[in-house]
Amino acid sequence: MAAPYSWNPGIEGVTSPWAIPVPLLPDEIISSWLVRAALTQGCDPLVLTGEVWPKWRIWAQDADRFFVDERLKSLCTVSGIPMEEFRAATLYPIASRIFGSNPPEKASWPWILTLGARNIKRHGGMQYCSSCLTEDAKPYYRRQWRFAWHTGCEKHGVSLLDRCHACGAPIEPHRLLAEDQNIAVCATCKSDLRNASSHTCPADALAFQGMVDHVVLHGQGSFQGQNIDVSEWFVLVNFFESLIRRANRSRAETMNDFLHRLGLQLPDGLPVLSGAGVDMLRTNERQKLLGMVYPLVVADKEQFEIALKESGITLQTFCSKGETLPKPLLEITSTLPDKPRVHIRKAARKLVGPRPRQEVMRMMARLQRKLEMAQR
Ligand SMILES: [Zn+2]
Ligand SMILES: [Zn+2]
Repeated sequence: MAAPYSWNPGIEGVTSPWAIPVPLLPDEIISSWLVRAALTQGCDPLVLTGEVWPKWRIWAQDADRFFVDERLKSLCTVSGIPMEEFRAATLYPIASRIFGSNPPEKASWPWILTLGARNIKRHGGMQYCSSCLTEDAKPYYRRQWRFAWHTGCEKHGVSLLDRCHACGAPIEPHRLLAEDQNIAVCATCKSDLRNASSHTCPADALAFQGMVDHVVLHGQGSFQGQNIDVSEWFVLVNFFESLIRRANRSRAETMNDFLHRLGLQLPDGLPVLSGAGVDMLRTNERQKLLGMVYPLVVADKEQFEIALKESGITLQTFCSKGETLPKPLLEITSTLPDKPRVHIRKAARKLVGPRPRQEVMRMMARLQRKLEMAQR
């Protein structure tokens, strides 16, 4: 019987010029397959990719994003795996659905975790479930572990991990060496990641994850009883995500009241990295943030309308300057009090006052990311 999968089935029984053929496993992401292929043949991942692509340093970028047929062809020749199987194991098909068209080659892809690659070192970007890795006959990394909306393992009910439990390093299997033999080993300290323990994943975060999976897999989202296309649905989710972060910063009374009426209570110090997109946040930060977005997306129309009306929230508090109201919210917000803010000249603050807290936090976060990278 074929192994269960959520995103792509993988391919077994391949014939390849290699001494030991390496099948693509169910839901396996292409970078995981590349590393396993190298370790199975007894060589370093960097050596194998150097052989396949002598003039291309695949690990200096996001190896799961490449989609150039010419490059995939070299891989098909040595592995015996058809091109469409490899293509399905990259992040490209999912990113295209979210983006609504071809995603850009260089810029970051929305809702795909950023690796923050510098040479062959990473800042983050890969998650894992130690129980899944333990149960695998041959451990491997899943494609869904790179999705920003994935923060838990549905099968085991636990939070995904995004660092080595022993040394705190990001997950960088491409830096493993032939003698490590096993992809479930930390490339930095060589601890076995299958020994990591994890907490139960919060229910709202898991519910959000299931909802997004459904939207992406079925090619259609819904909001307040209306069907909307995937990219438009993501625009709406982005807006709610930004609204929660804004509410957390400003703690405006009417906004708090609106959220409260939908059953949401902002936790103290929502630990969300200031100034960073959701694709750059750590798993525990996304869990808190996306768990708060979930009730906004699933609230029914009447409940949403009453919360808007009774909180007394203005259009300007609901949608800040510089943001665009997503189409599905236009009608429901059309009766909100429209009171443009009076702009106070800020010139004097620039010269004398301290920098705003948010700005300092943003600078601090940027510095921390740089320091973390420099120390590794
Ligand atoms: Zn699991
Ligand atoms: Zn480690």
